[in-house]
Amino acid sequence: MIQDFDLSAAAPPLLDWYKEHARALPWRKDVSSYRVWVSEIMLQQTRVEAVKPYFERFIKRLPDAASLAQCPDDTLLKLWEGLGYYNRVRNMKEAAAQIVKEYGGEMPPDYQKLLGLKGIGSYTAGAIASIAYGIPVPAVDGNVLRILTRAAADDSDIGKPSFRKEAERKLLMFMQNKEAFDAARSGEFNQALMELGATVCLPNGAPKCSDCPWKELCLARKEDRISEFPVKSRAKERRIEKRTVFVIRDGDKVAIRKRPNKGLLAGMYELPNTEGSLSMEEALSAIKDMHLTPIRIRELTKAKHIFSHIEWQMEGYAILVEEAERGCDETGLIFVEAETSEQKFALPAAFAAYARYMNIRIGNGKFS
Ligand code: SF4
Repeated sequence: MIQDFDLSAAAPPLLDWYKEHARALPWRKDVSSYRVWVSEIMLQQTRVEAVKPYFERFIKRLPDAASLAQCPDDTLLKLWEGLGYYNRVRNMKEAAAQIVKEYGGEMPPDYQKLLGLKGIGSYTAGAIASIAYGIPVPAVDGNVLRILTRAAADDSDIGKPSFRKEAERKLLMFMQNKEAFDAARSGEFNQALMELGATVCLPNGAPKCSDCPWKELCLARKEDRISEFPVKSRAKERRIEKRTVFVIRDGDKVAIRKRPNKGLLAGMYELPNTEGSLSMEEALSAIKDMHLTPIRIRELTKAKHIFSHIEWQMEGYAILVEEAERGCDETGLIFVEAETSEQKFALPAAFAAYARYMNIRIGNGKFS
């Protein structure tokens, strides 16, 4: 069980290993609470390699909480475009306003106060407190739970909040035990666990145990039971939603529109689309309902996008229209040059497969 795993024996080889193997990542330079915060929120649903260019661009444009608090929503969403889970950045803006108002623009060096900021949970608060301020608190996410349950051969369900709390308690007790642990190394210790999960104790039954600093301590390895851990209850099945997406062109311009301010992808721009899997005739009729006159229609490839609880299965049509700018107001359509769209309007990655027919790049594509 996790309670029996000896962290006093496990911490020194882990810290030694980290010293030698830590990757040079942009947020590990010039460490500050703000930089740790931005990187940790970005990394919550996205791989390190994909986050790097986003991080650099975000920090350059919004170097501190004050600039983030004042950033117009459209610019903010544009900076986040392609990272997904846009509520993360909306919460960050709210938290930045709190930081400016209540803490004079600097994140508070206090775990409980960090937890009081919008969008900051125990993992992020632990990461900021330990890495930026050297406070001995853990930062437990799914990676850490995977490593610990493997190392302790613990078959508890890592999807259960009660088990996460148990792991947090175990690590907290260890990190705050002055005889067993040097609190000044709290940031290093948490980052070492994160690094181990990201580069060695990999998910899906593929850990590189021979490179692991815990290879002599790990019970799952000793008992040859690695594939049994971690135990995780099945997530709720995603709802499938069929949608039809329109790439509507009028000469050099393409149609986009703003999504409602609430719900999925709130406040972002999108390619016009509708529920259901429309045939070509139905698509033409939908275009006419937008008060547009189609000249040509072409079927595009099918595409799929996975959100946390929904999967969009999309059909697409490219439609050339005439006199597009007349009478479109009530439909909310805006016709923009492709280049303007790429620079100014945040289009979610869900539309990436169709954005290429507009000759624009969204998400990570624009860094290539
Ligand atoms: S020995 Fe293997 S399974 Fe155990 S902690 Fe290390 S990488 Fe993970």
